[in-house]
Amino acid sequence: MTLSIPTLRLAARFSLRPALAAGAVLLASQAFAEAPLPPSKPSVAETAASPAQAPAAAKAQGSNPRLASLKDDAPAKDYFGAMKTPAALQARAIGSYAKGCLSGGNALPVNGPTWQVMRLSRNRNWGHPDLIRFLEDLAADAPSQGWRGLLVGDLAQPRGGPMTSGHASHQIGLDADIWLTEMPNRTLTREERENISAVSMLKGPIDVTGADRSVDPKKWSDSRARLIRSAASDPRVARIFVNPAIKQALCKFETGKNRDWLRKVRPWWGHDYHFHVRLACPAGSEGCKDQDTPPPGDGCGKELTWWLSDEPWVPKKPSKPEKVVKKKPMALAALPPSCKQVLTAQ
Ligand SMILES: [Zn+2]
Repeated sequence: MTLSIPTLRLAARFSLRPALAAGAVLLASQAFAEAPLPPSKPSVAETAASPAQAPAAAKAQGSNPRLASLKDDAPAKDYFGAMKTPAALQARAIGSYAKGCLSGGNALPVNGPTWQVMRLSRNRNWGHPDLIRFLEDLAADAPSQGWRGLLVGDLAQPRGGPMTSGHASHQIGLDADIWLTEMPNRTLTREERENISAVSMLKGPIDVTGADRSVDPKKWSDSRARLIRSAASDPRVARIFVNPAIKQALCKFETGKNRDWLRKVRPWWGHDYHFHVRLACPAGSEGCKDQDTPPPGDGCGKELTWWLSDEPWVPKKPSKPEKVVKKKPMALAALPPSCKQVLTAQ
């Protein structure tokens, strides 16, 4: 996801147009942040090879019948979405952020002194042990930034991998969504954690011509900026994704000499209710692929100006109707081969 502006234009054309055409960019980002899980997916057992196919496949893959029962062309999200527990193997982030899996994952406890995990029904509070430690450290530091504590959204599924809904990334246990809503002064109930909505920081719709694409000063605050700065200044963090309006607010907020942390804060679609922290590959994670480092500089110039213009957001009238191509879900075979061991481990 190293992004040149032409790539972004392509992204807008192919993946966002349908949502924009429906005038639903806010709804789309809401879905990203808050979509409930769809009805339960077939379990691994249900999607396993039929007994007739199994022996030949077993021969091809050694003698492990559990491995043989995995079908290469089946959607990887069906397998990984059905996993309820982590793989009891050495901790490893395997593959890349949007094409990989996680072994030896840990759960972020649902309650900590200065954090609470939201949407518990999703079972997505799993991550590489380094991510869990990072979140505990960020939460511990939050009060000193003027922020009572974190409301934590999705990390990864117990064994990572593609998700049944919501995100393309978050697959290797190094991504975490943190709400831009402060933790309340009490422990939320399970129901509240399902139902409370995160609040958008935007002033209004951003997909109309000439829209004011800035944060709403009644919602945005310096404490939010300090929290994001604290995360971005951590050497474990590779990138943070925020809405361009938030990036602009951060560019204005930092008046000190050290603007290095701003380089890691990247404008992206959605991300107006929460910010998304991405760690770099931890030491010892063989097969973990880092992204290229963000372009040099604080990112407050030309690129941000483009993000704040009409071009990425306002749908253009197509000269002829655009074909909406439905993307096929990622097949198991697209993931690194060791993700099959992750699926079949105890
Ligand atoms: Zn995210």
